[in-house]
Amino acid sequence: MTAALQLARALIRRPSITPDDHGCQALVAERLAPRGFGCEHFDANGVANLWALRALDRPGPTLVFAGHTDVVPPGPLERWTSDPFEPVERDGRLYGRGAADMKTSVAAFVVAIEEALDAGLLRRGRIAVLLTSDEEGPGVDGTVRVVEQLMARGEPLDYCIVGEPTSERRLGDTIKNGRRGSLSGRLVVHGVQGHVAYPQLARNALHELAPALAELVAVEWDRGDADFPPTSWQMSNLHAGTGAGNVIPGEAVLDFNFRFSPASPVETLQRRFTERLDAHGLRYTIDWAQPAQPFRCPAGELSRALADAVRAETGAQPRCSTSGGTSDGRFLARVCPQVIEFGPVNESIHRIDESVGLDEIEPLKNIYRRTITALLGE
Ligand SMILES: [Zn+2]
Repeated sequence: MTAALQLARALIRRPSITPDDHGCQALVAERLAPRGFGCEHFDANGVANLWALRALDRPGPTLVFAGHTDVVPPGPLERWTSDPFEPVERDGRLYGRGAADMKTSVAAFVVAIEEALDAGLLRRGRIAVLLTSDEEGPGVDGTVRVVEQLMARGEPLDYCIVGEPTSERRLGDTIKNGRRGSLSGRLVVHGVQGHVAYPQLARNALHELAPALAELVAVEWDRGDADFPPTSWQMSNLHAGTGAGNVIPGEAVLDFNFRFSPASPVETLQRRFTERLDAHGLRYTIDWAQPAQPFRCPAGELSRALADAVRAETGAQPRCSTSGGTSDGRFLARVCPQVIEFGPVNESIHRIDESVGLDEIEPLKNIYRRTITALLGE
């Protein structure tokens, strides 16, 4: 059994459902500390965070592998073919919660670092590992806490590889060179409740909202760019009415979400959104949630090194994408100019019978090793 498979299995065996790290980070720290890494634990409110850093012989750039040790709950156990927290190999795949998202990536980059160090391939700069147990949860006490520490110290980071499962059909077909932002809000339109037979005495909140909604779904917020699709606005919930058939609703409540590209800053979206409402003379209140900012990795040494490694290892020409939900990459982008995400096939993530191809594990580890060797080698 290879070292990466062995470590992936050991991590899967720990039922680290957010925010419980369940000893995963200790396992990683135990492997890195003997290889000269200084390991710091930044734990907060039940969330475990590990920052492990090692300087190499000569000065040079700092490269960080980032990831999470937490997993989403397995869901109904009886629907799993085998115990989600007992790694099982069958039909060429490794099964278990976290196999794809993202314990195999964590195992692969830890072993890649070990191999590169043991072979004397890393010569300059610094190499680091950042792990959190709060990526699948609210993300309040996770990566962002470590990033704040690094910012306070003025710690210079140059490259960051997040091991999220980015591949779509086969290992290496997709790299994420950024992520869209997310902005949610709750709109409450205030009308006047009344009897449907006496509309002149009421103000129907739904009738007032409807024309504005029709416009909002048709707005072109931006056109995106070469990396990002256009910003999209979606309604997720709309509630109004008392349940009675003869009552005009006095209030309508709408939950909505923007997935936005860097072309549309948060303030611009908020202004344009409220301008539409104002144009219809609506009386309303809005609660905006804390936005997740988008990030973009400019083409540079990191994207080139990773793409070269993918090609060399798999023969695939990776495609860049910014699709999918938000990730911790957004926090890392605050301290690191080049943040990229790369990992195994994501088809089974968060599902029953989550798995990773056994034939993905060694190539994934080798891709990580080739990338760090290219950036921190001679
Ligand atoms: Zn993940």
